[in-house]
Amino acid sequence: MKFLHQPNAERKVVYKYAEEWLQHAVTALRAHFLTYGHKVPEVYVSCGYSPHGFNPDRKINYEGCYMPMRYSADGVPMIYISPDLFEPIQVMFVLAHELIHAVDDGYSTHGFRFRSIARDLGMKECGNVRFIHYVNCIKKFSELAEPLGRYPRGGVTYQNSFSIINPDYQIQRMNDIEFKRNKSIEKKRVKTAVISM
Ligand SMILES: [Zn+2]
Repeated sequence: MKFLHQPNAERKVVYKYAEEWLQHAVTALRAHFLTYGHKVPEVYVSCGYSPHGFNPDRKINYEGCYMPMRYSADGVPMIYISPDLFEPIQVMFVLAHELIHAVDDGYSTHGFRFRSIARDLGMKECGNVRFIHYVNCIKKFSELAEPLGRYPRGGVTYQNSFSIINPDYQIQRMNDIEFKRNKSIEKKRVKTAVISM
């Protein structure tokens, strides 16, 4: 299980784009789901925020999002994986969560059907997974992610740029305020100059 702890940056590059990586991950997970009799339909999967967007002040920012068939013009459901994520095992878990939704097109939300599929896979989403099953799940997802190599994204850091405790943010804010103040002084000057002419 040494690859479990192999950081993303140290993995070999196999795919150039995250969407390619994600589609191959879907294929691998689809086969895994099928061993428990759960059929994952065709899905589009991309890297992006959910329609709730990103808000650093919110307690929870979604790591993934499933958009059911009825929201898709061609009837193919869509999955978004947050650009915050970049470690393959993390991506696999979020993707698997969204694929569970895909099995029943989000019908049961996080209800009984969802939890029973999560239980089959050994995921924590089922509520009371046995530790050994959870460990096996981590192992399995790592194995599936192994041939996919590096997740071709490095994550994002701009969460910090929103933070009021970030000094850069404060400096930026002060600069903005100063800039606006100077602009309004300049406007007033121009106005008085025009009037006095
Ligand atoms: Zn969910």
